[in-house]
Amino acid sequence: MGEIAECAARTTAAGLLCGATVNLRVGPEAREKRRRAARSPKAGATLGPRSAHPLDSLSITPTLAGQGTFHLPSPGARGIFRALFTYRIMTLTEKLLSRASGKARVQPGDNAWVNVDVLMTHDVCGPGTIGVFKREFGADAKVWDRDKVVIIPDHYIFTADSLSNRNVDILRDFVREQGLKYFYDVIDDPNGHWKFDPTKGQLKQQYGKNFAGVCHTTLPWKGHTRPGEVLVGTDSHTCMAGAFNQFATGIGNTDAGFVLGTGKILLKVPETMRFFLEGQLSPGVMAKDVILHVIGDIGFDGATYRAMQWEGPGALALDMDDRMTITNMAIEAGGKNGIFPYDEKCGAYVRERVAENGTKANFEPVDVDREQSFVFDKTYDLAKLEPTVACHPDPGNRKLAREMTDVKLDRAYIGSCTGGKTSDFLAFARVVKGHSVKIHTFGVPATTKVVAELKAAQMDGKSVWSILENAGVQMTENASCAACLGGPQDTFGRMNEKALKCISATNRNFPGRMGHKESQVFLASPYTVAASALTGHVTDPREMLG
Ligand code: SF4
Repeated sequence: MGEIAECAARTTAAGLLCGATVNLRVGPEAREKRRRAARSPKAGATLGPRSAHPLDSLSITPTLAGQGTFHLPSPGARGIFRALFTYRIMTLTEKLLSRASGKARVQPGDNAWVNVDVLMTHDVCGPGTIGVFKREFGADAKVWDRDKVVIIPDHYIFTADSLSNRNVDILRDFVREQGLKYFYDVIDDPNGHWKFDPTKGQLKQQYGKNFAGVCHTTLPWKGHTRPGEVLVGTDSHTCMAGAFNQFATGIGNTDAGFVLGTGKILLKVPETMRFFLEGQLSPGVMAKDVILHVIGDIGFDGATYRAMQWEGPGALALDMDDRMTITNMAIEAGGKNGIFPYDEKCGAYVRERVAENGTKANFEPVDVDREQSFVFDKTYDLAKLEPTVACHPDPGNRKLAREMTDVKLDRAYIGSCTGGKTSDFLAFARVVKGHSVKIHTFGVPATTKVVAELKAAQMDGKSVWSILENAGVQMTENASCAACLGGPQDTFGRMNEKALKCISATNRNFPGRMGHKESQVFLASPYTVAASALTGHVTDPREMLG
């Protein structure tokens, strides 16, 4: 200890000699100054230093080491030194990962073995994950915790492609073998085989009573998202569950196979970017516009391996569906995860779902502390945002809808985990009610619950479902990912011809995403997709909402 204390004293002296600013506290004024400094146009100028906290000037850096007055002999001593003298207030993500790894604290760049609370997999990655698990842990191995594995077939379901159908059977066999509790099967017979019947068409229900729909929307509905937990899934949009104040991220099949066997995953702690939301959304502007605007700001790789933390009165004013839309697309900026603070709105949502489904009821959220250290910190005034579009070929290619009226469209699509929630369809219906779409328009509810809610919900004495159908929207009862990910040729809504242009409420628009590699996808809010479906070109929905 004597040696470490001496090093600390020397380092402080060296820091002062180098002219480093050593502030023990940062007041609101300094924070605001930092925030203002971080506000600037694209071009990377918004990115602050890798760590903005002044006490990081006490970290071991080449500059200090170069003074010749400072030397720590081993990585172990350096770790102890940092723990004692580089005190950093943890962000939400750091707090979650420190708790889940059993460490008092972690900081960006640390590698930590994290205990997983929920592992989710689906029909596309589940069979591969199971294969890795059996190869590495043995043919007779058992998963680490039967109650923590959630299996949701949702991607390539309503297709006559026999291999896709077979994937669902592989999941069912594994669930039976392992005695897993949470499996949202397409069919009711636990010993049966799934076979899609194309002669029945795409629009009418072809699933049993346990089927749920898109995994990320199903997880909160069925009571599997809880504040304070770690949820990993074999799908990049697993980050959506961060809306519930938990660490949620997508992982590969190899990692997932390891999690199946051990319940653990090795994660590098990401740096955190803060997006501070003030004000209120204007009429005609939705949460989708917020995330498209932000990704346009930082670029589709602007949050690579970073946590996107949403804060501020504007963030907490958003309902849970809106928060999910935003965290869902963290990955579209390369983010490791997206996360919202915990509040009573979140707690009430979760308590209701876990009670309904009999899932684990207790949870322990993490709170936002003042003086957190961010790698990027920017304030957005929601009132200034307008209907926004991410143009082909990436989610960061931002334009305003009102500037794009010359872009002629061939089709419109509403659906997916991001844009297929009940609230998304209600917004869409508000625009198309009493009108007719001019281009092929496809509606794919994210879950079977959304189907039921749209049939039950009324507008002007008519069911929302019938309003959509009467407007010419092809609505399918077969809730799934459908054409969001392209899928086999016979997938509902898939873009099979080249040069088609589609405006879509989904989340990703890289080339070929929804089918043909020469088709183009324009991402937008349900309002904007609806308005554009009525005109046949990209349209600002405010023109139609009055
Ligand atoms: S709806 Fe689209 S983004 Fe969501 S899980 Fe399915 S394929 Fe992925």
